[in-house]
Amino acid sequence: MTKVAGLFGWPVEHSLSPGMQNAAFAAAELDYTYVPFAVPPARLAEAVQAIRALGLVGANVTIPHKIEVMQYLDEITENARRIGAVNTIVNQNGYLIGHNTDGDGFIHSLREQAVAVVGRQILMLGAGGAARAVAAGLLAAGCSKVIVAARALERAQELTQHFTGMPVEAQLWSDLDESGLLQKTDILINATPLGMSPHTDQMPSINWELLNPTAVICDLVYNPLVTQFLRYASQRGHKVITGEGMLAGQGALAFQLWTGKTAPFSIMLSAVQQHFPIF
Ligand code: NAP
Repeated sequence: MTKVAGLFGWPVEHSLSPGMQNAAFAAAELDYTYVPFAVPPARLAEAVQAIRALGLVGANVTIPHKIEVMQYLDEITENARRIGAVNTIVNQNGYLIGHNTDGDGFIHSLREQAVAVVGRQILMLGAGGAARAVAAGLLAAGCSKVIVAARALERAQELTQHFTGMPVEAQLWSDLDESGLLQKTDILINATPLGMSPHTDQMPSINWELLNPTAVICDLVYNPLVTQFLRYASQRGHKVITGEGMLAGQGALAFQLWTGKTAPFSIMLSAVQQHFPIF
């Protein structure tokens, strides 16, 4: 019998996950299907209950349900708890476990591009939900330090407080030049929406003259695939990592949790890439 994984969001019409997951199931010759469900916030509890009632293998959870859904699950992984959100539910015979694959999805995309994380110093621009997930992934993967820079120091501190005892520091973005941190950065990540369509001419402001010339530059924004930030970094000779790898990576890890099989990452990446302009 066909196994079903769902996507709970509100709205869900524009999600790329159905195309990505169904392409992966087909490529892996698995009798699974992935179905988007538009779940109004007031009906989230019922939708979670339906995973058990209908025997879904699990579900992805997207905006606006990622935090709210946690109260309806039987178990939350330590990683998802640290990130403060769940993006993947796994149904183990009616016992629902909440995972978060966003941060590890980012690490997955770095590995695919042969970018090492162990011992590397990271500078993260932005301190929202995506930054928190990526910080969790980087710290778990063994980076030496994550510096979280935000335009308000309190916002960066709000993030770092979730990683007590780990090598993570809050930094005021406007003080970066004097901090000496740009020179020490091995991996620089844009975790703000700057540059996202339709504002494709925007990019995070940093002093490129001070930045370590061998730093790898990553953008979490994936629409467009190559942002102004990455285009400029590339012109300056930096290796760049585009945002769609994280999207495909989080999907690949969800696929693995539901099926127990290695995901066909390149198929998932192509499914995502088809949807976006290069610029
Ligand atoms: P969020 O929770 O709204 O956080 C956005 C962060 O960016 C906040 O820290 C915000 O600062 C900062 N920011 C916004 N505009 C800024 C500006 N003009 N200058 C400086 N900082 C600014 O959003 P999110 O969920 O973390 O997502 C951030 C971006 O990541 C999204 O736009 C999306 O493109 C991308 N993303 C990608 C993936 C993927 O799979 N590749 C997954 C999730 C998200 P304040 O707190 O001061 O407002």
